[in-house]
Amino acid sequence: MKHYDFTDLAVPGVRQLKPYIPGKPTAELEREYGVSNSIKLASNENPLGASPRAIEAMRGELDDLWLYPDANGFELKQALAARHGVDPSCITLGNGSNDVLVFLAQVFLQPGLEAVFSQYCFAVYPIATQMVGATAKVAPALPADHVMPLGHDLRALYEQVGPDTRLVMVANPNNPTGTWLDGARLKDFVASLPPHVICVVDEAYTEYAESDRLGDASTWLDECPSLVVTRTFSKAYGLAGLRVGYALSNPGISDLLNRVRPAFNVNSLALTAARAALDDQAFIDHSREVNSAGLVQLGEGLGHLGARVVPSAANFVLAEFDRSGAELNEQLLRAGIIVRPVANYGLENYLRITVGTEAQNQRVLDALGTILGQSSGQ
Ligand SMILES: *Cc1c(COP(=O)(O)O)cnc(C)c1O
Repeated sequence: MKHYDFTDLAVPGVRQLKPYIPGKPTAELEREYGVSNSIKLASNENPLGASPRAIEAMRGELDDLWLYPDANGFELKQALAARHGVDPSCITLGNGSNDVLVFLAQVFLQPGLEAVFSQYCFAVYPIATQMVGATAKVAPALPADHVMPLGHDLRALYEQVGPDTRLVMVANPNNPTGTWLDGARLKDFVASLPPHVICVVDEAYTEYAESDRLGDASTWLDECPSLVVTRTFSKAYGLAGLRVGYALSNPGISDLLNRVRPAFNVNSLALTAARAALDDQAFIDHSREVNSAGLVQLGEGLGHLGARVVPSAANFVLAEFDRSGAELNEQLLRAGIIVRPVANYGLENYLRITVGTEAQNQRVLDALGTILGQSSGQ
């Protein structure tokens, strides 16, 4: 069909908007490159799949798919409330936590108001901000030679906060860097923000964090009324395809978020699966163990290849090479391996690689070894 240009009709925030660039699905790679046996280490999915309990629970839901889902997600909220020791009225369910981030922008931002986040933060924060026509205030990240290279700099973030700031968004650990903030310092930062500022602490990867050095922001809600904590079932719980995440906040905030939330934003299968997955602690523990071993394997292997690996508390590593990440990515695609080039974040010579199974990690290390023309040191 002939493509007409309607850009002038779009609201100002949308005119310049560049959509989120997702990882390529394996089926698309296989179609485009004529390869088979491809692997995807590009979207921080759980290489172990989903909790078997979640899959079993969804089977029991199939006969009821003709019914609309429970718009209030009663059972999942009850379980989450019990898990976090909060009232169900503190919870906002999202079609992935991405959904909740968009609600936050819709509720608290508009042209003339500002959102503060860090350089190298999760790409959804600037997108949600721009979409509603608000202004992004970007704090410089920690330098590449810092112990937490490219990580969030709380002091720099604080300096960006002004009278028009309504949202500050911080991921702990952060994507795409994998870096993290000390929990006690982050809590002090949240508590120090003026009352007109809502602080979002995005804990998408928190189940992977091995020690309690990152803290658990969901336990700060009583002391920090303007705090919003976001969580997701997409990462450690292995349910990325279902789209379910949530926010924990003061009920005064969740009340507002739920006003813009489409009533049926979380589908029945997702509600049921998330409810069952929450109880499968053995699956989470096993996922964390496999991930920790994989972080060591990828860290050492990439180090042997001469890459500089950013420390990670998540299920991926960001590595710097002495050549273009886009070129390396292209060569990996030809070898049937999908990783994430991050030039769109301003990280030209870097790749973000999701921790896979031991065999998948070895495959990406071997392929990179061949591409870089040296052995992987094994
Ligand atoms: C993956 C990710 C999310 C979660 O996205 P969903 O919409 O829940 O799948 C949120 N924040 C960060 C930083 C992420 O990397």
